[in-house]
Amino acid sequence: MTDDFEAKGKRKKLVTELRKKGISDEEVLRAIDTVPRHLFMDPAFLIHAYTDKAFPISSGQTISQPYTVAIQTSLLQVKKRDKILEIGTGSGYQAAILAEMGAKVYTIERFRELYLKAQQIISALGYSIDFFYGDGHVGKAQYGPFDGIIITAAIREIPVTLLKQLKTGGRLVAPVGGGGFQEMTLVKRDDEDSFTYTTHGSFVFVPMLTGTINNN
Ligand code: SAH
Repeated sequence: MTDDFEAKGKRKKLVTELRKKGISDEEVLRAIDTVPRHLFMDPAFLIHAYTDKAFPISSGQTISQPYTVAIQTSLLQVKKRDKILEIGTGSGYQAAILAEMGAKVYTIERFRELYLKAQQIISALGYSIDFFYGDGHVGKAQYGPFDGIIITAAIREIPVTLLKQLKTGGRLVAPVGGGGFQEMTLVKRDDEDSFTYTTHGSFVFVPMLTGTINNN
């Protein structure tokens, strides 16, 4: 598990590219500049670790495109010590970005293989994150309420159960839609029963599915 000058140089280039594409949150850019994305990649795609694209990981899933990670993280407006729930751990890269920004991260994954793998990488990097193996549709009420919830798989409709786990003033970011494209949706909890929805462009995610897969 190593980082090196070559990878660091490639990350700087990636950050410049993300700036050009409109990412302006300095903390998000700093986290992307810091977290070694190549350590979260399947060895077959290692040389592409710093191209702005999604790539296959195990269990037939994907590591999100850096631009997508940057947009979702920017929309969350993460502050240090914020409690953030992530649904869809996948490689663990998005969770690492949030932890690097100083958030207390809770993350749920339905594939046991990914749940185990992500923990190994995260502990080798020295971040402290709470991992859960389970179906994220129900969230983690016992650890809430959260300042932010990030869903990193395509969901047809945002479950009320999750919205209820937001603090007042909290934010949920999710790609909403069926097959094909999803609309990046930000939901702000203004009050106990008042939520504001805005959309922020089209993206393509793997689907959010029900149940768990014990493949390891
Ligand atoms: N955040 C990830 C992106 C992973 S892709 C990263 O940075 O790499 C989306 C992930 O969501 C997949 O790993 C998929 O298995 C997971 N997922 C899909 N439905 C889920 C559910 N109901 N509960 C938890 N995880 C789910």
